[in-house]
Amino acid sequence: MSEVRREGETIVLPGLVSAHSHAFQRGLRGRTHALARAGEGSFWSWRGLMYRFAAGLDPESIFALSRLAFRELARNGVTAVGEFHYVQHQPDGTPYDDRVVLAESVIRAAREVGIRITLLRVLYARGGWGRPLEPTQKRFVDGDVRDALADVDELRKRFAGDEGVRFGLAPHSVRAVPVEWLRAARDYCDEHGLPLHAHVAEQRRELAECLAEHGKRPVELLADEGILSERFVAVHATHLRPHEARLLGDSFACLCRTTERDLGDGSPDVQQLRDAGVRLCVGVDSHARSDALEELRAVELDERVRAEGRALAADGTALLEAGTNLGSAAIGQANDGDEVVLDANDASLLGAPDSGPALTDAVVFGADARAIREVRVAGESVSLEPTTEERDAFDAAVAQLTR
Ligand SMILES: [Zn+2]
Repeated sequence: MSEVRREGETIVLPGLVSAHSHAFQRGLRGRTHALARAGEGSFWSWRGLMYRFAAGLDPESIFALSRLAFRELARNGVTAVGEFHYVQHQPDGTPYDDRVVLAESVIRAAREVGIRITLLRVLYARGGWGRPLEPTQKRFVDGDVRDALADVDELRKRFAGDEGVRFGLAPHSVRAVPVEWLRAARDYCDEHGLPLHAHVAEQRRELAECLAEHGKRPVELLADEGILSERFVAVHATHLRPHEARLLGDSFACLCRTTERDLGDGSPDVQQLRDAGVRLCVGVDSHARSDALEELRAVELDERVRAEGRALAADGTALLEAGTNLGSAAIGQANDGDEVVLDANDASLLGAPDSGPALTDAVVFGADARAIREVRVAGESVSLEPTTEERDAFDAAVAQLTR
């Protein structure tokens, strides 16, 4: 179990894990609200904006955006990230000469910052069942699932010597891949013991399309195809019926409350997931905010709003476990020597209890990220502030992509 302890004038907790991230989206922070103001705000209009931004990415800009995003995560106590990486090819869909150059850029960004990364290589085949591919989606797509798996083989080989780099597969969602691709992903991950992630039941339209294509809801389809396992992570798991939570069973659900809030996705029934034994982890997803402690407390606090009571589906200890050990397990990472050191004299922590579950509650529900003084990955201190070069490269990438 994850523990919080006092050490002199500090409070030390295990390194936090963000199990779901799209790092380049950090460049869009604060820039997606005009549509909502104009009365055209929805998940899908947000996605249109994000696609136009993604259309301009190149190896340099994705590196610059990701590095700043990971630096900010480290600043806020994150020592490992699961990066759900779906921009693979050139804008017209032609692979780069080096097919994995964009994935490698994102991995290098995390390692330059000093945090661990699990690159969850996305599988993307189509715009949806019976839906033509949108031009901006071309660079996400592989013609054959075997090409995508060969890319993962190549990446695993390139980073075989780096303990802080791991891999997994991520069929984007049941709307973006046919069933054969789900099976191929399952077999590859079973063979190599890798994590398998997918966006699941984030939007109601996804449920409707899955029912129309398969006559099943997404979790029912995943269960019938043997996708669910202790290595499977259902990202979002927002719109589930009780039997679907039970079907998830010993899989993970990765909640991304600050993004789900931003997008108006809805609220998952956290108590239902916990009752079904589903293991929880969290992710910053779109980087609308990058505050790992806020991500954790939002799981419980949003549940109280949804359930209209001080329900306590998860106390500070359970939330910290979700943000540390369970997050690491969900992305197949180690966490030895990963620690976050807070200033016990920070205003947000004054008056916190001495020890035990009450101290953990005080940190998880009350600590400001500002209190973080040091972050260690595998015992090594990580620099918490971006360099001038990192800021300038980030600004240049945002300027280029929003021209
Ligand atoms: Zn996502």
